[in-house]
Amino acid sequence: MTEAAAALETVDVTCVFHVGQGFLRGAKPLRAVNGVSLKIPQGQVVGLVGESGCGKSTMANILLGLQKPSSGDVLYSGNSAAGFSRRQIARRIQPIFQDPYSSLNPTKTIESIVSQPLKIHNVGEPSEWSAKVAEMLDVVGLPRRVASSYPSQLSGGQRQRVAIARALVMRPEVVICDEPTSALDVSVQSQILNLLQDLKEELGLTYLLISHNLAVVQHMADRVAVMYLGRIVEEADAQTLFNDPRHPYTRALLGSVLTPDPRLGVPDTHLGTVFPNPIDPPPGCSFHPRCSECMEICRSRAPRPVADGGHETECHLYGNTGGQDRHVAHND
Ligand code: SF4
Repeated sequence: MTEAAAALETVDVTCVFHVGQGFLRGAKPLRAVNGVSLKIPQGQVVGLVGESGCGKSTMANILLGLQKPSSGDVLYSGNSAAGFSRRQIARRIQPIFQDPYSSLNPTKTIESIVSQPLKIHNVGEPSEWSAKVAEMLDVVGLPRRVASSYPSQLSGGQRQRVAIARALVMRPEVVICDEPTSALDVSVQSQILNLLQDLKEELGLTYLLISHNLAVVQHMADRVAVMYLGRIVEEADAQTLFNDPRHPYTRALLGSVLTPDPRLGVPDTHLGTVFPNPIDPPPGCSFHPRCSECMEICRSRAPRPVADGGHETECHLYGNTGGQDRHVAHND
């Protein structure tokens, strides 16, 4: 089987922020994303999973052209991001954010919100915009009458449908779904996931589905990448990852129970609530202080990614590469 072309790809992308440590202590580098290469094949759903603070949202901002990487490249259909303006990227890639309560302007009608991208990008004639909005409301399963409503008059699920209509009105190729259901009631979450799945088939979309919750990703993803402290620590097609999880962190995520309150953004991984400080990450494997299978080498040598077919794992339990001194790079 030939591999689908990548609609979107990162090549060894790193994103460093300099975070103030207080008076006289200067700023320290925080590697929010640390050498990530990830392909999102055309027409597929790639799930990006990890706890809050692992770098998922920085990845989303980089892919959307909202954040410039410190090094590495982003490729849109194989072409470097350097050749695209912010507007050109926005026509290809649109986001759906976590919180439909804050992502919709409360002072605008639904028609104004959904048609906003058409206005910004000068798409079609203004006389056509109402018809486009009506069409998008049909597509996302909302009655056309809500066009004259305000966000406060809609339920959480309806607001997220409006956010999806706004994202799709430009007919983007790729949609970055950043925790698209985690602010919604559990009863509505599966409706929105089913809608996203149907729209993918109908419109031939490609998704990056970002979530802290593997159960959400399992519902939709063709391929899954697990992120921890700015690194992809395991990546495989979804069936393989769920049937044969290898990295101890992936296994902990899979063994987790759903959080009682999804808005907390933290799955109950039985790993404790202490997430390592990304400004001062542990040496060696950055997961080692929380890993039940930690070995001596893990404390000093960062593991290299080891590929087994399409299944890649970054852990000393797999392969005998002897690791790398990435902890030096963390702290430069
Ligand atoms: Fe655990 Fe060592 Fe693997 Fe890191 S490299 S996940 S500490 S076994």
